Amino acid sequence: MKHSLNKIICPHSNCAKPFDKVIYHHGIVFCPHCQKSLLINPFLPELEKMTFRQFARRFIKTQWKLYADAMIIFAIFIAIVEVIANFDKINLGSVFWIKLSLMALILLGVGIYFMEKNLQNYHYYKLKNKPILKGVDTYNLVKDDFEISVTLEDLKVKFNTFAPCCPNCHSQRLHQKIDKFHCQNCHHQFIISPKLNNINTHHLVIIYVLMFFIIRSLSDGSYLMLLFIPILFLVNLSSQYYWCKTPKWKLQSP
Ligand SMILES: [Zn+2]
Ligand SMILES: [Zn+2]
Repeated sequence: MKHSLNKIICPHSNCAKPFDKVIYHHGIVFCPHCQKSLLINPFLPELEKMTFRQFARRFIKTQWKLYADAMIIFAIFIAIVEVIANFDKINLGSVFWIKLSLMALILLGVGIYFMEKNLQNYHYYKLKNKPILKGVDTYNLVKDDFEISVTLEDLKVKFNTFAPCCPNCHSQRLHQKIDKFHCQNCHHQFIISPKLNNINTHHLVIIYVLMFFIIRSLSDGSYLMLLFIPILFLVNLSSQYYWCKTPKWKLQSP
């Protein structure tokens, strides 16, 4: 088995055992041996110090596969559309719907493929090639606290691929009351920096506008959609860079 060769090792020094599956509970990942939490891909201070060049290099290194796959899917899609367009008996109105449903079918196929591939141990696969730090939480303390799950689900959207945690003690046992976050471990309170929220909103708006043009280019039959992936790449790169440069939290009194 190829996987057994590169098992992940628990970062907790008194455990340090290799594992090939994890415990996932209320949005937190735990080592299956010592049952202590693992901070998967936390926001590292190195990232904040990076120049745009360094950041872009790192971004390409970690993300190129995703964009390459998307480009291949788009190429296959356009090839199929070309074939269909050559049957001139189909009227123009239905061509659009055929294109749209084809797109949906391809996406569904790809989705099922990746789900099948990762479903058995989805949360373990998400650990691969990401920095893992030792967390401060234990499974027993998280077990019955459903509020953590709700809070982390909300923070996940704001933190992209990075693991949200308390800026003071790195615990993930967070509760949310309106816009304030309460750490259950060190009892600090903090709010998300409004700048960070702005970046996420701008990013979302740009993605929606892009999607709008893609759907339109489908009906026009133009090849504008070929630009979609490269533009998406640039949008994601620049917004992630500004996201990294922005302070995430505003700490308040404990
Ligand atoms: Zn462990
Ligand atoms: Zn804390």
